[in-house]
Amino acid sequence: MKILVINAGSSSLKYQFMDSDSGEVFAKGLCERIGIDGKLTHKVPGRDDVKNDIAMPTHNEAIQAVLDIMVDPQKGVIASTDEIDAVGHRVLHGGAAFTESCIIDDKCIEAIKKCIPLGPLHNPANLMGIEACQKIMPKTPQVAVFDTAFHMTMPPKAYIYAIPYEYYEKDDVRRYGFHGTSHRYVSARAVDMLGNPAHSKIICCHLGNGSSLSACIDGKCADTSMGLGPLAGFPMGTRSGDVDATILEYLMGRYGYDIKEMLNILNKKSGVLGISGVSSDFRDLDDAAAKGNERAQLALDKFIYEVKKFIGAYTTAMGGVDAIVFTAGIGENSIDMREKICEGLECIGVKLDKEKNNVRGKEVDVSAADSKVKVFVIPTNEELMIAMDTASLAKN
Ligand code: ADP
Repeated sequence: MKILVINAGSSSLKYQFMDSDSGEVFAKGLCERIGIDGKLTHKVPGRDDVKNDIAMPTHNEAIQAVLDIMVDPQKGVIASTDEIDAVGHRVLHGGAAFTESCIIDDKCIEAIKKCIPLGPLHNPANLMGIEACQKIMPKTPQVAVFDTAFHMTMPPKAYIYAIPYEYYEKDDVRRYGFHGTSHRYVSARAVDMLGNPAHSKIICCHLGNGSSLSACIDGKCADTSMGLGPLAGFPMGTRSGDVDATILEYLMGRYGYDIKEMLNILNKKSGVLGISGVSSDFRDLDDAAAKGNERAQLALDKFIYEVKKFIGAYTTAMGGVDAIVFTAGIGENSIDMREKICEGLECIGVKLDKEKNNVRGKEVDVSAADSKVKVFVIPTNEELMIAMDTASLAKN
């Protein structure tokens, strides 16, 4: 089936039009500055990129601009929007209600709205994308694919926080986890690469701007590093990861920050950017560290150290590990980062083959022949997962 995959943010909207069976991407692009002025970048394989300024006061105009360019006789890829069989939407927070993807109907929209307090930045934007598509393409089936759904198999001991239980019961405070579509895709690929054994223990390292690890037993999530929100876990580009909550009280008291300012610091000014003062981009950090910048080196060391700690924790929590997967921008592309993270993990049976590890953006086994634990590089493909879910639900 031909599926339009939509990832709507508050002022941007990414799209990909693809075949859910072959994974072929016919066109993809990005609407930016929605609600400000409006910019569309449209890419078709083998052609020059198209960049247009188009007024986009709301997500409705953005979706309309995407559909217009898709049917444009010169720049488009289809003759009519009827060729779009279904639309798949990435939705950040499904709460505990959504354990899998679902057809968007009134009940589903209500449930996404109910999760707004849990995903206050993303869910309203995701809903704007959904409502715009419903308005403009009322007859086309729409499917919601949740970033949290894959993690809903975690046992209570992994998702409960050690705070008064009433906050879980009354206020839904628990670990949810994110990047679920990516963890689901790469963990399934890893099971396949292991030869589809009846039982498997896999650690997926999604290392990008935002990063998270997951522990997967027999293809199901048993634990993950992000929490109620995506701030939790280990240091990321600009997010702190887990911090001692005492730091909040201390800094808020010293500088008079309110909670919004404090969270802005933890979300936008922390992580490897915060430690290095150089950049949130790992390529910049590599360059700076190579020139002797000690704080850039410290930021990299801290990232590696914390990822290793999570790998160790998940290995013992699962009682072993069969494969470690590296994915997303850093995991797929940074040869050095993979090598440094695996360094010292011989104690749990990990042995990297440095030659094989000399690879970027390809699905490969990079472990040594005698490594007890396989190490895989698996480029993630969240859009394909969304398209596949959308096709299978839209068919019924
Ligand atoms: P997002 O979370 O925004 O989807 P990505 O998964 O695209 O992010 O990852 C972006 C990160 O990947 C950036 O920090 C970037 O520096 C890093 N990255 C991309 N290529 C390389 C590379 N060759 N070496 C090191 N880091 C890389």
